Formats: sequence, structure tokens, C-alpha cells
Amino acid sequence: MLFDINATVICASKYFDSNQMRTLYEKGVFHFGENRAQDLIKKLKDLNDLNITWHFIGHLQSNKVKDIINQIDYLHTLDRISLADSIQKHAIKPIKCFIQVNLTEEDQKSGVLLSNLSQFLLEIKKYDKIELIGFMTIGKDEDLLVTEQVFHQLDELATTYKLPYRSMGMTNDYELAIKHHATHFRIGRKFLELLE
Ligand SMILES: *Cc1c(COP(=O)(O)O)cnc(C)c1O
Repeated sequence: MLFDINATVICASKYFDSNQMRTLYEKGVFHFGENRAQDLIKKLKDLNDLNITWHFIGHLQSNKVKDIINQIDYLHTLDRISLADSIQKHAIKPIKCFIQVNLTEEDQKSGVLLSNLSQFLLEIKKYDKIELIGFMTIGKDEDLLVTEQVFHQLDELATTYKLPYRSMGMTNDYELAIKHHATHFRIGRKFLELLE
């Protein structure tokens, strides 16, 4: 497995307002990831003069799909068939999607469980508005041992299913994600350092 040196660092911008994002952009941050449809819509408007690549990284309610799906470049959180249905209905072109996999099997987390993944992959093949590019996962809070295990698992899954991209790694665990071939890091709090 080759390490992808073209890895992308996405600023998880839920902590930042539009002005702070503009400052980050001026410092060279061009990829932003939002968690909430409402915030995304506002920031799209505030920052529409900038050439930002927009990622959606939060849980996406089906009824919000029509408001945002044609404004984003990447969706990291495809996690259920009903969401795929909604995307199929509203997208005007194929959307680059990561399937979120709940590898820590925590109830409070979204994501397809490993035991359902192969069936899910079969079912989404028929959606021509979904361009599947990889898997996304979130580590376990305060548990770097488990986090490393799930990052390793995600890497193997991407290899097994021949998908090029792996979205994993946040402020506290990005070094583990590098080790396991992440291609898209979602970094939030660490960007505060750039704003000081
Ligand atoms: C907030 C968030 C991040 C970034 O978290 P930090 O710990 O601040 O780096 C990454 N991914 C998702 C889905 C998030 O909600």
C-alpha cells in the first residue's frame, strides 16, 4: 500500500465563524467541513467570493439534503439507504461520497455497522447520483488504543473494497491516522493555533 502524499487536510469549521474562516483561507486553508446544514448555508453565502472546497462531515438529515447537496463537493457521512434515496432524488450530478462506518460500535455514533457494510455496498450500487470514493470513521474518545484499531480496520476495508480514500483523523488522533494511510484528515480545534 502506497502512502498517499496528496492527503487533504480539511478544516472542521464548526468552531469558526465566517470571518475566522476567511482568515484561515488567507493563510492557505482551502478545504472546509461543516457539520450542520444551516451553518453551511450561511457560510456559503458569506464566503461565496472564495474558491473553497466544501465538505459535509456531520450527520445529515434527509429533509436537509435538497438544501445542500448541490453546494458541496464531498459528503463524508453517507450512513443509511434513506439518505441515499434523498440524494438520488435531489442531486443534479453524482456526489462524491464516503460511507461513514461505525467501527467503535458506540450507540451515540452514526455510521453503518461493519456487519451491515457489504449489504449496504451492494444496495448503493444502483444509485447513479452516488459516487462512492471511500470510507470515513471517527475514533473512540480518549482511547487511542481502540482508535488505532479502527483506523487500521478502515484502511483494510478501503483496500478490500478497492476504494481510494480514507477520511479519518482529528486533532487528537491525526498521527495515528497518518500511520494508517488516511487521505482526508478532519481537523478542528488545532486550527485555533493558526488564529492566535
Ligand atoms: C468536530 C469534528 C472534527 C474535528 O474535531 P477536532 O477534535 O476539533 O479536531 C472531525 N470530524 C467530525 C465529524 C467533527 O464533527
